[in-house]
Amino acid sequence: MIRYTLVCEAEHGFESWFPSSESFDAQAASGFVSCPVCGSVRVGKSIMAPSVARTDRGPGTLPTQAGSPADADSPAAPPQAPPQLAPTEPEQRLRALMRALRAEVTRNADDVGTRFPEEARRIHYGETETRAIYGEASLEEARALVDEGIAVAPLLPDVDDRH
Ligand SMILES: [Zn+2]
Repeated sequence: MIRYTLVCEAEHGFESWFPSSESFDAQAASGFVSCPVCGSVRVGKSIMAPSVARTDRGPGTLPTQAGSPADADSPAAPPQAPPQLAPTEPEQRLRALMRALRAEVTRNADDVGTRFPEEARRIHYGETETRAIYGEASLEEARALVDEGIAVAPLLPDVDDRH
């Protein structure tokens, strides 16, 4: 057993036990190690402290605090991400930001699908309750909305804004 003092991207410190260094790396890469304060899975090792009371029990009876394995919806193969908080490339940062924005919007707004232009107009002209919506619109539809003074923003990274 190894006790790791971990720190998340928001600099919350916490401790967790792992059977081995490899186990920590694998669990961290799979997103099973999360900050108990903010829930971030971007955690890294702060200080490594070897266990003082070593037992020779095999893995399986080990009290890890690394998320809920029952809820393991790990997609595909977990990447071999380094456990420390390596600075990401600007492009990856941007994509992460876009994903976060999309997740935020889709969580808080109504999905109106292809009725987006219609719903956006109804909200703009006070024909229905004001609320956050998202949906689909072609470039022409989005442009027409903007021309009418209705603020729309592309959600997906692949929606371009060429003129
Ligand atoms: Zn945190």
